[in-house]
Amino acid sequence: MDYFPIFVRLTGEPVLVVGGGEVAARKIDLLLSSGAKVTVVAPELIPELSQKAAAASFTHIATEFAPDHLEGMRLAIAATDKHSVNAWVARQAERRNILVNVVDDRELSRFIVPAIVDRSPVVVAVGSSGEAPVLTRHLRESLESFIPQRLGALASFAGRLRSTVKSRLSDLSARRRFWENFFDGPLASDIVAGRLDVEDVSIEPLFDAALVQAAQQGPAQGEVALVGAGPGDPGLLTLRALRALQNADVVLYDRLVSTEVLQLARRDAERIYVGKAAGKAHVSQENINELLVKLAREGKRVCRLKGGDPFIFGRGGEELEALAAQGIRFEVVPGITAAAGCAAYAGIPLTHRDHAQVLTLVTGHCKGETDKVDWELLSRPAQTVVFYMGLGHLENILARLREHGVPAQRAAAVIEQGTHSNQRVVTATLLDLAQKVRDAGIASPALLIVGEVTRLHETLRWFNAANGVAIKSTAGRLSA
Ligand code: SAH
Repeated sequence: MDYFPIFVRLTGEPVLVVGGGEVAARKIDLLLSSGAKVTVVAPELIPELSQKAAAASFTHIATEFAPDHLEGMRLAIAATDKHSVNAWVARQAERRNILVNVVDDRELSRFIVPAIVDRSPVVVAVGSSGEAPVLTRHLRESLESFIPQRLGALASFAGRLRSTVKSRLSDLSARRRFWENFFDGPLASDIVAGRLDVEDVSIEPLFDAALVQAAQQGPAQGEVALVGAGPGDPGLLTLRALRALQNADVVLYDRLVSTEVLQLARRDAERIYVGKAAGKAHVSQENINELLVKLAREGKRVCRLKGGDPFIFGRGGEELEALAAQGIRFEVVPGITAAAGCAAYAGIPLTHRDHAQVLTLVTGHCKGETDKVDWELLSRPAQTVVFYMGLGHLENILARLREHGVPAQRAAAVIEQGTHSNQRVVTATLLDLAQKVRDAGIASPALLIVGEVTRLHETLRWFNAANGVAIKSTAGRLSA
């Protein structure tokens, strides 16, 4: 982030604007609407500004700019059409540590003025660090159409009742939950839709009833949402997962949860890493279970985030059993499992009917479990077998399949970092897959897919396809 985004309270504060033309007029309007005490330095003003000066909306100094004009100012905006004057204002302001903006000149500016959507008291500011003003404007326009006109009325109403709510609900979590329910509820939607005026006498009793109900419920009940975060690309989160993430007071996450997904949690939510470090348990499963119970008992809303889907090789069931045993409320939000996500992003239709009538998801994790696998079943034709956690046992897996009669020429693929921008796909036959995976230096997380459907990657690959270069052309098809 190149700029620190803030909203500044300028009511009654002195601000200097240098320039008296159209560009200055736009900035002056904005400053006046925020209550700033504006001084405009310009030998001449356009008529619109002259009228405002005559009405004493701001102080007009009808001369060229001089450094003394900056004395005591909080902010300065240079908006003349002369670059040398603007540069001079900027230099002088910098010398005095006064934050300065030069309109349309990022280099000379200390601060930039964002595009805004004004639903006061709610103001949405959009900026691109000066890189792409047209994009910023575009975004602002879509926000403008998307954010209800009467949102400001709703915010003012909530502001008016804030201290009442605070005095009636002393528990912070209960209060937050009350407001969330309120903003999601019928009263808020009536206000936003204009069906109910915030000055209407009927509104406060309705609000009061909701408040009484919340107060009777006592301290907020904790709960856990077991959420599938998908294989990595944040675009693959479900709407429900996003909501659970944004509502959570605490997020417990695993190694496979991508940073981009984690960033979607509320800024002030506590984030606890409970993943494994280099193959060994970082926090034991029992400790995770205990932590979930403890946090929920404290009244927290916990989001237990797991890569892919929580019920597919995710030990989600074990965590829920612990919660159920303690009577903790929970919900489960399914996620896109690695097999579905990686196959889609690698252009491998898992059950293309010309090649596979059965799809099997199997763990290739540890020797003990691998030995429990029914290899005879996995070796039958006309199916696709997806091995999770199989990279470390790749050679063993391939050997067992061969022993059980799978032909050496059966196609297979390994997908590393599926759905991430650095996804890599290695395709080969059972005979040479292990060698090619070694040559490419494939690392975890990686998914093994065995089946003729993997041949379709060649024609159906689309993700990263434009810059997909064969990293090692002699080692079969490897796309990055
Ligand atoms: N619950 C998860 C699976 C957890 S087991 C899910 O439903 O996807 C962890 C294994 O999943 C990894 O060893 C790897 O085989 C696979 N995996 C998860 N995310 C992956 C990704 N982005 N790319 C490739 N493999 C992935």
